[in-house]
Amino acid sequence: MAALAALNPNPKSELNYSTPFELLVAVMLSAQATDKGVNLATAKLFPVANTPQKILDLGLDGLIPYVQTINLYRTKAQHLIEACRILIDRFHGEVPRTRDELVSLPGVGRKTANVVMNVAFGEPAIAVDTHIFRVCNRTGFAPGKTPAEVEEKLLKVVPKDYLLNAHHWLLLFGRYICKARNPECVRCPVAEYCSAPEKTEALAKAAEEAADLKPGSPAKKPRAKKKPTLPEVKSNDRSV
Ligand code: SF4
Repeated sequence: MAALAALNPNPKSELNYSTPFELLVAVMLSAQATDKGVNLATAKLFPVANTPQKILDLGLDGLIPYVQTINLYRTKAQHLIEACRILIDRFHGEVPRTRDELVSLPGVGRKTANVVMNVAFGEPAIAVDTHIFRVCNRTGFAPGKTPAEVEEKLLKVVPKDYLLNAHHWLLLFGRYICKARNPECVRCPVAEYCSAPEKTEALAKAAEEAADLKPGSPAKKPRAKKKPTLPEVKSNDRSV
């Protein structure tokens, strides 16, 4: 975990927001959608409506034009309207801080609740998305058959001091290095701890390509097009 932390000591959400409510809206909209697409939509929505009451005032027909570029927008808009109604009726218009209260909102599952708790309220919650699920199983760091199992194991194996940012560190690692296809094992900061078959294959391929590039080697092999590099993770490579 320390090696991942060193790549990006202060990770932040890539979703744009300025209040817990804006974050909740952005995370609700982000399921099966890109952060970039959500940011484009909320950049127009939030100046007009960034509170539960203002979104309720827009109504479903008024809200849809702002979110219709986002996957599953109609269902998400319906959930959002209903969630705003509940926030006003039960939570005085504020975003609740507990997981049980958050998941009582339509369209808010455990993963969304964990993101809001972690990013908005600084709780050491880990939202297990597809990247984190893959990384934890592939490396054997926190294996599990379901996201809930992986989350439970992570909470046991991640040192306390790293829990707050573990979500972002693992997510970024899975998104940019330990990718589903062609993981970049040659620049992996935790390769020495990894025994995944993907690592053996990737390192063998990189070694073969490097050998092809050596002067005097049979340079006709077509695969010797790309030399492995060790680029840094960019500071803005972030995501919730
Ligand atoms: S060595 Fe490769 S497979 Fe193993 S954790 Fe690193 S990137 Fe993933």
